[in-house]
Amino acid sequence: MIAEQIRKIHEELPGGVSLVAVSKFHPVEALMEAYEAGQRIFGESRVQELLEKIPQMPDDVRWHFIGHLQTNKVRQVVGRVSLIESVDSERLLEIIDRESEKAGVTTRVLMQVHVAREETKFGFMPDELLSFFSSRGYEKLKATHLCGVMGMASNTDDADQVRRDFAEVFSLYGRIVADNPDLRGFDTVSMGMSGDWRLAIEEGSTMVRIGSMIFGSRQY
Ligand SMILES: *Cc1c(COP(=O)(O)O)cnc(C)c1O
Repeated sequence: MIAEQIRKIHEELPGGVSLVAVSKFHPVEALMEAYEAGQRIFGESRVQELLEKIPQMPDDVRWHFIGHLQTNKVRQVVGRVSLIESVDSERLLEIIDRESEKAGVTTRVLMQVHVAREETKFGFMPDELLSFFSSRGYEKLKATHLCGVMGMASNTDDADQVRRDFAEVFSLYGRIVADNPDLRGFDTVSMGMSGDWRLAIEEGSTMVRIGSMIFGSRQY
């Protein structure tokens, strides 16, 4: 089942779009099934769960942290993940940078932008993110590499709204790149989940984060 779903998604994914298998709340056996089907990037949203799974999976797995990261847990995550997709404040970014420097590693991150209509989602407001870049807030980073942006669409059946949300993330990304030609390797636009990844790709996504479509519904 899991292998079949991964194969189906890969058939539809355009070249240059990577697949993050969002494995939160699923047991390691399910992750191994995905691994054996060739999946190497896994997304987790809770630090404890991530830390429990890492030693149980092969070394060539690339872990993405995709949940809200509390500043007091940053130290447990740096050096263990290949990408933190969910940097949602300057303070968090500063702490990631400081802890990465201390640990002697470079941490790759995405800036999470809040475009959804819900109040509950984390992330920089678009204006906030633009002013972070226009004030060149990234220049002082020593051990953090900004790789792009991550966004989530509104939780709605209204496909036009979802499309507008993704278009907003992509246009924000485009403005940042245009305004900051010295940014290197800022090339990732992570957007799209089980219910909306095809729309996200149409709107420019380069990375989709798919959970329930691969692993089934989560047992919380
Ligand atoms: C859980 C989660 C996903 C995956 O959601 P599905 O609808 O199960 O595909 C993607 N991104 C983030 C940030 C998540 O927390």
